[in-house]
Amino acid sequence: MLLKSVEYVRPDTVPEALDLLRSNVGAAPLAGGQSLTNVLKHRVASVDLLVDISALAELRSITRTAEGVIEIGSCVTYDEIDHSREVRAGHDIVARVAAHIEDQQIRNRGTIGGNCCLSDPTNNLPPLLVALGATMNVRSAGGSRQVAAEDFFKGYFLTALEPGELLTSVTIPPLLSGVGAGYVSVSVAADSKAIVRAAARVEVKGVIGEARVVLARVASVPVRHRGMEDALRGAPPTAESVRAAAATIGNELEPIADSHGSSQYRREMARVVAQRAVLEAIAEGGGK
Ligand SMILES: Cc1cc2nc3c(=O)[nH]c(=O)nc-3n(C[C@H](O)[C@H](O)[C@H](O)COP(=O)(O)OP(=O)(O)OC[C@H]3O[C@@H](n4cnc5c(N)ncnc54)[C@H](O)[C@@H]3O)c2cc1C
Repeated sequence: MLLKSVEYVRPDTVPEALDLLRSNVGAAPLAGGQSLTNVLKHRVASVDLLVDISALAELRSITRTAEGVIEIGSCVTYDEIDHSREVRAGHDIVARVAAHIEDQQIRNRGTIGGNCCLSDPTNNLPPLLVALGATMNVRSAGGSRQVAAEDFFKGYFLTALEPGELLTSVTIPPLLSGVGAGYVSVSVAADSKAIVRAAARVEVKGVIGEARVVLARVASVPVRHRGMEDALRGAPPTAESVRAAAATIGNELEPIADSHGSSQYRREMARVVAQRAVLEAIAEGGGK
């Protein structure tokens, strides 16, 4: 189907883009365009003005502080994340996940900002960013604000962004000594959409300290499993205690059923991927 005729503008600065978004009710930001152009072609949504933010220098940088905090501009592509020395230096897991999003063409165009702002529950980055305790940096013509990643995703194709707001960057805290991250999916095929996935960030100081366990594809947004997190805290970092903690994942989850798996299958796989993601995080943290 052909794209309906739509106005297109390429602003030179972020303030100019924000002005355009504020003064045009039917305007939408265009980043990699991988999802938005498909949505428009299928007439699922209509937009009067595409504000192309993909080349704005301010949204395209990756910085790393001396303390190991990284800030990734919203228009940085998956391929750029994969090949970034700043990201690889302390957040290898972010680069590894970006490197396995679909195929090279998608990775050349798709952006971290578009991946998050779409809030598609099948997308790879949202559960990881929630597990890592990331902060979403948001700007409008009226000012700026920060939203914790776990409060950013509100539902299917719904985020905390208000009309006229742009996600400008994502800040990820350091993975310090003794802290590791893990990410495990059950997918239809290698690098394709996940049936269920888990991301974890675990601190080990003799016993397990703070732990974040995030499940995806079991609800419309990434879900932190507090029961498993509580069960991990203070436990020895062994396969037995992680398996026992994963057993707290139960009928409180009501995943969708589709041609790839029943709700019960997804629930059982959630226990398996959560366990593996936590063990991966423990192994990674122990190696530092
Ligand atoms: C064939 C195919 C397979 C795919 N498979 C996967 C997959 O396995 N895993 C995966 O994670 N993704 C997958 N994707 C999705 C892909 O990663 C998209 O690139 C992503 O969902 C959207 O990113 P984008 O940069 O293309 O955003 P766009 O399509 O440009 O924008 C998406 C939405 O976000 C809004 N938006 C974009 N940037 C901002 C911003 N900075 N601030 C505010 N709003 C913004 C837009 O207005 C739009 O509503 C796939 C896409 C295709 C076409």
